[in-house]
Amino acid sequence: MGKKAETHLQETDFSKWYLQAIQQGDLFAYGPVRGTIIFKPDGYELWERYKEAFNARLQAEGIRNAYFPMLIPESYFLKEKDHVEGFAPELPWVTEAAGEELEERLALRPTSETVIGGAMSEWINSYRDLPMELNQWANVFRWEKRTLPFLRTSEFLWQEGHTAHASEEEARERTMTMLKIYEELCEDLLAMPVYSGQKTPSERFAGAVDTYSIEAMMKDTKAVQAGTSHYMGTNFADAFDIKYLNSDNEHVLAYTTSWGTSTRLLGALIMTHGDEQGLVLPPKMAATQVVLIPAGNMKKNPEVLDRLVELRSELQDAGLRVRLDDSNNSAGYKFNDAEVHGVPLRVEFGPRDMANDQVMIKMRDLDDKESLRLEGLAEAIQERLDTMQVRLLDKAKEFRKTHEHYDIDTLEDLKAHIAKCEENGQRPGWVLAGWDGTDESEAAIKEATGFTSRNIPFDPPMEKSVDLYSGKPAKYTVWFARAY
Ligand code: AMP
Repeated sequence: MGKKAETHLQETDFSKWYLQAIQQGDLFAYGPVRGTIIFKPDGYELWERYKEAFNARLQAEGIRNAYFPMLIPESYFLKEKDHVEGFAPELPWVTEAAGEELEERLALRPTSETVIGGAMSEWINSYRDLPMELNQWANVFRWEKRTLPFLRTSEFLWQEGHTAHASEEEARERTMTMLKIYEELCEDLLAMPVYSGQKTPSERFAGAVDTYSIEAMMKDTKAVQAGTSHYMGTNFADAFDIKYLNSDNEHVLAYTTSWGTSTRLLGALIMTHGDEQGLVLPPKMAATQVVLIPAGNMKKNPEVLDRLVELRSELQDAGLRVRLDDSNNSAGYKFNDAEVHGVPLRVEFGPRDMANDQVMIKMRDLDDKESLRLEGLAEAIQERLDTMQVRLLDKAKEFRKTHEHYDIDTLEDLKAHIAKCEENGQRPGWVLAGWDGTDESEAAIKEATGFTSRNIPFDPPMEKSVDLYSGKPAKYTVWFARAY
């Protein structure tokens, strides 16, 4: 696969590095329509890992999967004013079928609050039907102007959860629990630390009362909104007539929530851990966790390959995802191939290793090799993979910490900071700053610096007291950063 990566590309041209990394890693190809991508098996399998882990969490919460139609009648969108206003610019429409113009045009869903709201209004009658909690795995469409594979595509895959509750308290609790689950999955599975917090009103989901997000820092220090959870109040219940008969025999509106994470997570995963050589995949996510590579001349030493075939079965039986590279390529080529695919651990095995009952291993994220005894190899490998999983999270946390700024308190300071970074070829990072709660202040900061509010973290490293732009007393402490 491919040539050696140009050195320092990650530092000098991060987008080029990213596209090269995902291409050499065989994760995707461009689709025929602008902004769409094909998920190749290595890319799709990453999504399947996430799916599996998220489904397990859903099951523990007692939430089941369902599937709703992709085509949504225009009249459904028109029911919730903010929702239609927010999504209208991004909707693709189906206007014709079987050679005839349709009576009502149909949107390719950008999200399913409307169609699920319509169904829930039919299904919910009394308080006994509540809470009603569903999740759907689906493709959705948003005709984005700027696109980037995985991170922002016109069609993407996601899960969207939709729930209806009898009380505000319960709906808010669900909103928060799901955000927490996203946070935990990002850390445990993707080894990607995130900040949980509330979005400012300007960044709120169309039709929501409150939007919460998890935000992650990429290696170029730009932010990625990695997942969102929305408390809708009774906005959608009102629009779709989701009412139930309460214990006092009154028809009242339900409180709804929705929450989603998408294949954007895969882009974030790559941008969090990748290095100059390309992909670095956390062991829990990697399609192949271990690649076995014969060293020396295979034709002269067929017994080496035979032993590797056995070893593959032993490791597979121990639950590891293993691949044996028995192609005719040189060992050097195979090492590089394993590297660009982000395989967490490679095993080298030649005649001398065989004579000594040992293998050489190399972890994708470390420079040194290590020799391991053949006896107990599966456990030793598993242990190293577990350690790598934790190490990647720690490294990402450390990276984030060294690019967070808490001492920039005026717009002038922020501009000077950015100018200095540009001069020295450094990344501007994230800025924790005070915000007075006005749109004006957010807009002015964005206009002057390209920094946007990411979220109001629940657990900020410190509290800020003065608005970065206006100098007025701050109502909130907010993360500002450039974002994808
Ligand atoms: P939303 O329904 O707007 O709250 O979006 C839910 C999640 O989907 C967001 O937090 C993003 O992680 C993700 N997302 C939104 N737009 C896109 C897109 N164009 N491509 C990929 N993921 C997206």
